[in-house]
Amino acid sequence: MEKFDFISIGSGSSGRGLAAGLQRSGWKVAIVEKDVDHHFGGTCINTGCIPTKAIVESALHNSSLDSAKALEDKIVERIRSGTLRNVEEKVGVKVIHGEASFIDQFTIEVGGEKYSSDMYAIATGSEPSIPPIKGLNSVDYSTSSDLLHIDHVPKSILVIGGGRIGLELSQAFHNLGSEVTIFEGLPHLLPGEDEEIADAIKEHLMSLGIKIYNGRFVDAVDQGMFEGGKYKLSIYEGENKGDYYGDFLLVATGRKPRISGLNLEKIGVETERGVIKVDEYLRTTQKHIFAVGDVIGNPMFTNWAAFQGRLVLNNLRQSREETANWEKLRTPNMPRMTFVYPELAAVGLTEKEARDKYGDDVIVSKFYNKWLGKSMIVGDYTGFLKAIGRKGSNEILGVHLWGVRTGSIIQMIVLAMENNLGWSQLADMVYGHPVLVEGVEGLSRMMSGKVNADS
Ligand SMILES: Cc1cc2nc3c(=O)[nH]c(=O)nc-3n(C[C@H](O)[C@H](O)[C@H](O)COP(=O)(O)OP(=O)(O)OC[C@H]3O[C@@H](n4cnc5c(N)ncnc54)[C@H](O)[C@@H]3O)c2cc1C
Repeated sequence: MEKFDFISIGSGSSGRGLAAGLQRSGWKVAIVEKDVDHHFGGTCINTGCIPTKAIVESALHNSSLDSAKALEDKIVERIRSGTLRNVEEKVGVKVIHGEASFIDQFTIEVGGEKYSSDMYAIATGSEPSIPPIKGLNSVDYSTSSDLLHIDHVPKSILVIGGGRIGLELSQAFHNLGSEVTIFEGLPHLLPGEDEEIADAIKEHLMSLGIKIYNGRFVDAVDQGMFEGGKYKLSIYEGENKGDYYGDFLLVATGRKPRISGLNLEKIGVETERGVIKVDEYLRTTQKHIFAVGDVIGNPMFTNWAAFQGRLVLNNLRQSREETANWEKLRTPNMPRMTFVYPELAAVGLTEKEARDKYGDDVIVSKFYNKWLGKSMIVGDYTGFLKAIGRKGSNEILGVHLWGVRTGSIIQMIVLAMENNLGWSQLADMVYGHPVLVEGVEGLSRMMSGKVNADS
């Protein structure tokens, strides 16, 4: 039986960098990946961030599914094969093909072979979480990865779930020519994001021709030869009451940790409501087994998964056992992206969260993209930027940037928040001109009192 110092179960954003970093530090390391040929590098590279964004981007400029898929395939293949080459050949991590499950606390089995290791990372990611809607389990619904592999543009798509994955794919397939209808049970789209902006995005998507029904959960789903399409989706009560039909059914209702088959109960790794329990160093209830990434629950973002992997790596590089120098997991100011077009990039509190915490002390400013010369030059001034702070305080509580390419702009706000800089520091700089980031200059000038806030 081959023995290692460290094995990462999963090759995604959380486990891969951790494993490669330890191998570079002289440890003997392996990564187990159940689908090396199609999924090395994990969800982000193969069925998540990269392919969805390639389709979103391509569909913006060209309404051909073939072009979108060609771009997707080219990028995914390039990143996946490059990542595998780097980890296996350059860094020297042993890549084990197959699905791992624990036999005991120090041994796993993969395809009939046994491997042992002093330490492990469970980095197995997440899978779609399917809601208990009547009839859903009896119909052949699709998830985001099925939609990425489709070979035709469905005439009509019913989308259950108005979160970021549902909206991104809805807009992309709308651009490719599908008639798209979105159903979200909660009163606002994009749960967790600023409600005012979520409502504005809803209005914008509807103005483009996407139908959206929210505020009431779908009651039932059926499949058959209906006049309006293969799927029937029913809402029994309320203002959206009725039957809706479509040729394709996408379920995009969130994700849950992928932990079945690992035998965690047998080895004493505890879970709580389907999520692996970890301490502040990301150790499970078995201290030599870490858990990183989506398996420890929300939020599920690739950069957060990688951040967790780096924390474990830095600690283990110092010493194999916990010392006073080990760093604890903190909650960083984390940017949240939603790649509808134009995109939403946000960090910190929403207005509602801020008001729940600070009440009437909260101040809000908005900067409309149409006020910017560069937006006019670019030819798209949809959206607005929103800042949330407190009266008489320089502290940035939250920033929400809805507009063209704001995903890159948000990072300067993250840098400011991580370093306790506030509105006045953002305002007291010379900005380039004409550039889209001047919207942040306007917003921070309002918030620092250099121009009156609009509310
Ligand atoms: C459609 C979609 C779009 C997304 N877009 C974004 C985005 O734009 N930005 C962003 O930050 N995040 C995005 N995400 C989320 C992001 O992909 C995840 O947060 C991230 O990939 C989590 O990394 P991970 O290492 O925890 O798991 P993963 O990347 O999922 O890696 C886990 C790996 O483990 C393997 N595995 C599982 N079980 C076993 C086993 N028993 N044995 C061996 N191997 C196993 C899996 O095959 C997989 O390759 C998106 C996700 C989806 C689904």
